[in-house]
Amino acid sequence: AMFDGLSRSLEKAWDTVRKDGKLSADNIKEPMREIRRALLEADVSLPVVRRFVKKVEEAALGERVVKGLSPDQKLVKVVYEELKSLMGGQQAELVQPKYGPSVILMAGLQGTGKTTAAGKLALYLKKQGLKVLLVATDVYRPAAIDQLVTLGRKIDVPVFELGTQVAPPEIARQGLELAKRDEFDAVIVDTAGRLQIDERLMGELRETKDMVKPTDTLLVVDAMTGQEAAALVKAFADAVDITGAVLTKMDGDSRGGAALSIKEVSGRPIKFVGTGEKMEALEPFYPERMASRILGMGDVVSLVEKAEDAIQADEAAELTKKMMTAKFDFNDFLKQYKMVTGMGNLSSLVKMLPGMNKVNEKQVNEVERKYAQYESMIQSMNKKEREAPELLAKSPSRRRRVAMGSGRTEEEVQELIAMFTSMRMQMQTMSRMMALSGGGQGMA
Ligand code: GDP
Repeated sequence: AMFDGLSRSLEKAWDTVRKDGKLSADNIKEPMREIRRALLEADVSLPVVRRFVKKVEEAALGERVVKGLSPDQKLVKVVYEELKSLMGGQQAELVQPKYGPSVILMAGLQGTGKTTAAGKLALYLKKQGLKVLLVATDVYRPAAIDQLVTLGRKIDVPVFELGTQVAPPEIARQGLELAKRDEFDAVIVDTAGRLQIDERLMGELRETKDMVKPTDTLLVVDAMTGQEAAALVKAFADAVDITGAVLTKMDGDSRGGAALSIKEVSGRPIKFVGTGEKMEALEPFYPERMASRILGMGDVVSLVEKAEDAIQADEAAELTKKMMTAKFDFNDFLKQYKMVTGMGNLSSLVKMLPGMNKVNEKQVNEVERKYAQYESMIQSMNKKEREAPELLAKSPSRRRRVAMGSGRTEEEVQELIAMFTSMRMQMQTMSRMMALSGGGQGMA
């Protein structure tokens, strides 16, 4: 899945400085080479990679001494901060209108998921309590209007259309008129799709823009197209001045180059990402969450948000707090496991756990089996051992007892302890880094 390769090769970069006392011009050469290679492999464009590596280098060797971080952790933190800023730093929200409805034009090449994204965004805004109107102006792709009408019916959002014989800017104008009259809060215009950048259609998009004065013009691009997606956002930004991008098919096997390059190449932020074919599969784009996911620190915030739908909110908050401090013990681990399995789709959820992002689809069944074994081993521990995992790390006889009690081998018990210990370490590193970046992710 996305970023797996990148996370894996960055792991090597930390290894090379782990043993040294501090970061130096000398010992960061190798990790810098590794980072450069990893980004190029993820399909980030060369100029972007160059600027990024230079910034990381400067920050890594910078004056600021960070207490309490080892050199590899310091480097991870620097890369985390730079990744975050590369992707725009802050979440880019939709522009709020001064008066009247929000008007959002959806532009994009055919097949990128433009029409789907229009429907998804309509549902997203509707869930926020807004009265939303979809407007179908894609008169060139034969089935596009029907597709939008069908989507609208599915999510219970009205679709304004005038067939394929009226010019798109005129359809948009009439749609907006209706929206104003009936006091809609948001109008989403699915504009004419195009096969490639083409002056006639670009001119038409410009005309539609002039006609309805949108609050946002979003270009929908496909994550699978990597660097090209970034170049496309730039081309549209230059030609028709868009306000941002929607990056679709983030659930696919792309290498992540688009997510990393778009802001830097085009100057426009990614506002939303599409993560599946379902209407619910649209999320705001959060640079900090993406950065921590790339670095294998897990995406605890997203995980907890999903968890809150599945379990009691206070239970989730309690668990997060523990994950962010060093108090996380085997009992919490079991709770976390139950929470994850209670939410369905283990493969996507498991990747959000710190240290678990390197798990590939095929390994998910294996992970499920492993966790069932972990569970039985933890159940064979006594109360003290569950609360203080160090006890087991220190005592072979305790490990033997747990192995016997659960019907597993002593090696398997050791493996559980090693896994748990490294997980806890990553959580601590992450929380320390988040504390250093001012709490960054709104974990209050
Ligand atoms: P358009 O030509 O740009 O309007 O593209 P469509 O909206 O018709 O989408 C093209 C195809 O991509 C459809 O089969 C969609 O179901 C699929 N699609 C759209 N967004 C996503 C996404 O985020 N993930 C995945 N896996 N498929 C998507």
